[in-house]
Amino acid sequence: MSLTYANMPLDRCSNQRKNKRWLALEFNHQETLFCVINDGMSLFSHDNTFTPIYLTKLQLDSLSIDSCIYMGKGSLDKAPGSAESTNVSSLFTVDFEKLRFSTQEQLLILGQWQNLREATPHLTLIDASIQALGKALVYWHSTHLYCGKCGNASRSVNSGHARRCTECRNMSFPRTDPAVIMLVEHMFPDGIARCLLGRQASWKAGIYSTLAGFVDPGETLEEAVIREVSEETAVIVENPQYITSQPWPFPASVMLGFTAVATSTHIDISKDDIDDCQWFSREQLAGLYAGTQSPTKTDNAIDTNIKKHEYRIGSGYSISSYLITAWKNKEIGQY
Ligand SMILES: [Zn+2]
Repeated sequence: MSLTYANMPLDRCSNQRKNKRWLALEFNHQETLFCVINDGMSLFSHDNTFTPIYLTKLQLDSLSIDSCIYMGKGSLDKAPGSAESTNVSSLFTVDFEKLRFSTQEQLLILGQWQNLREATPHLTLIDASIQALGKALVYWHSTHLYCGKCGNASRSVNSGHARRCTECRNMSFPRTDPAVIMLVEHMFPDGIARCLLGRQASWKAGIYSTLAGFVDPGETLEEAVIREVSEETAVIVENPQYITSQPWPFPASVMLGFTAVATSTHIDISKDDIDDCQWFSREQLAGLYAGTQSPTKTDNAIDTNIKKHEYRIGSGYSISSYLITAWKNKEIGQY
């Protein structure tokens, strides 16, 4: 199964992009395309088909190479490595704020801005991955305008893949915050295996998900799994096993999926901020709704007839949904 945001068709050209001459040639090539990000939102066609708009340099008047971030080279309409790939081109991303006012106005005529999370269920896996990369890179630049060492202004260098302080020359690089997300399982004395799912108070009624949390400094991923489950629920787990990962640019994470086996079953959520946590059997999971449509549409549809104790799994494109479904189908886990 392919996880959303994990189907990057672009070769990041990590070595070539350091060469200024090569980068200038790619920047000025007529086939090169640009992905504009506006306050975390992506540009889509007006026809509500969620078709991403990639622009040419001609459409972005007086665009400076220093304001752009190199994303990579590849085909936007074929699978990575496909022999049938055509229209291979370089792709840059650029912050809407860096464009001239007249260009900004032109973009509003060409398309409409949409939140990536809301648009994701409608996107191809390739477009979702490209938009996620653009969003992550633009976000990093917009939140690292000043040097973390001396506080003076920094500026984008190395094709947008680093920032250098204008005073002390300190270099900083795009960061991704690692977060573990885990399917915790236990074989109960009644011979039924169950998994541990929780929910936040801010979520829509009935939605449950796997537990998750950020990795602390000086901590292994496995230690983070054990600590997070204990902190949130007081359940003790062992034997964390890595399954897969998913880029999660909301705003800057990578989700690292694990299974873990619980050695205790008593749940205590009083010391954390989660709203509820319960054990679910496979039979119960089979009755849960795994949303694959737009979260908004799904929630509206369900809200009209929601009942007490009616449970659902969160976004169908998230690694949480993948882990729950894979465990339900006995594709992962010990039990
Ligand atoms: Zn500095």
